[in-house]
Amino acid sequence: MSQEYVIQTPPVPSVAVAGSEARFPVRRIFCVGRNYSEHVREMGGDPAREPPIFFTKPADAVVASGTAVPYPPRTGNLHHEIELVVAIGRPGAGIPAADALAHVYGYAVGNDLTRRDLQAQAKKAGAPWDMAKGFDAAAPVSAIRPAGETGHVSEGRIWLAVNGELRQESDLREMIWSVQEIVAELSTYCRLLPGDLVFTGTPSGIGPLVAGDVVSGGIEGVGTLEHGILAA
Ligand code: MN
Repeated sequence: MSQEYVIQTPPVPSVAVAGSEARFPVRRIFCVGRNYSEHVREMGGDPAREPPIFFTKPADAVVASGTAVPYPPRTGNLHHEIELVVAIGRPGAGIPAADALAHVYGYAVGNDLTRRDLQAQAKKAGAPWDMAKGFDAAAPVSAIRPAGETGHVSEGRIWLAVNGELRQESDLREMIWSVQEIVAELSTYCRLLPGDLVFTGTPSGIGPLVAGDVVSGGIEGVGTLEHGILAA
């Protein structure tokens, strides 16, 4: 007899996979802060190569490309952050950087939506970032491109436009910590498991979004992401 639950079981959050009817089930969403020097500077930090900092979003914050994202409550300063997203396909803890790519199922384009005002308050107070980063629909993600079909990604243009106006533009080569280094370091904190997504940090050019905006972004060799912002 299958297990019964006292409430209806929640649906499994998932992301589309390019060229497949089957979807990638999302287990956890990890994010890296400060991984492009120009962005560290625009946030008032020092781009010295200190170990990456990690935070998380709930798995069910993920939404597909094409979604109209409601402008979230409790903020007056919602920001876009275009990022390379790594999808983990094999478990591992303490993964050596040299082995890290073997744990990567594929890559996607993500927008690490951020309540910048709440993040600034949290930083000032030494308080958690959760409500700045982990709200409903805070993680728009494109279809995943499987590495087994298209290879791994270490360079290529990354960009984001709002209403057709370019706001962020860089190259994955500008990442302070590589995908291999991020997977290795993160796996020393948590045993990585299939279904985990890792947002790898945003380049400079972050800025505000308002209701009615159309956000488009992409990464050369990975794909494109588009979503709107709806009035609350
Ligand atoms: Mn970010």
